[in-house]
Amino acid sequence: MTDNKLIELIKKENAEICTNESMKNHTSFRIGGNADCFCEVKDVASLRNIIRLCREFDTPYFILGLGSNLLVSDKGIDGVVIKLGGEFNEITLSEGNTVRCGAGSTLARLCNFARNMSLGGLEFAWGIPGSVGGAVYMNAGAYDGEIKDTVCSVDYMDKNGSIKRCKKEDLDFSYRHSAFTDTDNIIISATFRLVPKPQHEISERMQELMERRKTKQPINHPSAGSVFKRPEGYYAAALIEECGLKGYEYGGAQVSPKHSGFIVNDNGASAEDVLGLIEHIKKVVKEQKDVDLSCEVKFIGRV
Ligand SMILES: Cc1cc2nc3c(=O)[nH]c(=O)nc-3n(C[C@H](O)[C@H](O)[C@H](O)COP(=O)(O)OP(=O)(O)OC[C@H]3O[C@@H](n4cnc5c(N)ncnc54)[C@H](O)[C@@H]3O)c2cc1C
Repeated sequence: MTDNKLIELIKKENAEICTNESMKNHTSFRIGGNADCFCEVKDVASLRNIIRLCREFDTPYFILGLGSNLLVSDKGIDGVVIKLGGEFNEITLSEGNTVRCGAGSTLARLCNFARNMSLGGLEFAWGIPGSVGGAVYMNAGAYDGEIKDTVCSVDYMDKNGSIKRCKKEDLDFSYRHSAFTDTDNIIISATFRLVPKPQHEISERMQELMERRKTKQPINHPSAGSVFKRPEGYYAAALIEECGLKGYEYGGAQVSPKHSGFIVNDNGASAEDVLGLIEHIKKVVKEQKDVDLSCEVKFIGRV
């Protein structure tokens, strides 16, 4: 349990704080126990103070984006969950068709901003339901586009509170991976280099990709998107379907009848249900196809 003294000190910062906050309210899966302390921090100075306090109190912290790639334990999360709000939502147009966007902003806001400025390059990201920080962390991608194609630099805070800049060539991007994967560094903002394009062309492409999503994905059901990474030479959804698992139910969790790469929470699923279903899918796919599936969705919290 998180020290009450720590919580009292965090309350003095420019942040909104809740204790015992259900992570169901902060994940697209609508699953998860309570975070001991949940705070939405509004500026860089307060973020620095909060992570310094966490270190002083030997308390872990977790940076949450929009929770669209997470499965949170039913037993909740130790320590402090930090969401970036306030000034971390700012988007500004800079010279040379570059756009700087705070890590707390949604990708959707960034895509709309770029469209309104008649700047193309981010159309592929329309419909990916995450924050800019989460998209950079994951190198999110769809329809032949990836975040790495447009990012030119990222500003981050290291675990000592220093702000540093990482250029594209040092961001170590690969499939659903970046230099931030499994580090304590906090993405503050990212700068994207875009290209002038007629606004109607950008809008048409965004609409077309959204239509494809609506036809192929269960976007109106709680999920965390594709559960598994694409195994070399295969599509996870096709393998799962060929193994007869489309629509398979485990507790309240189900392999989506619309897209076998998604697990949906249609019936009050617990994290245990989802983990059980993931294990079952992995086992069957290994037995029938001799392919090892690995998770794209991240499991966090108490085990
Ligand atoms: C319906 C649906 C469709 C989806 N479609 C796609 C798709 O087409 N392509 C795709 O790539 N993904 C897709 N996803 C998955 C998800 O939207 C992406 O992975 C997204 O980039 C996650 O962003 P987030 O802000 O929600 O991150 P979270 O889920 O909140 O966090 C993911 C990881 O990023 C880290 N993180 C977040 N912000 C920061 C920060 N500021 N600094 C440091 N670390 C940070 C977290 O600590 C965590 O480790 C889909 C999900 C859903 C529900």
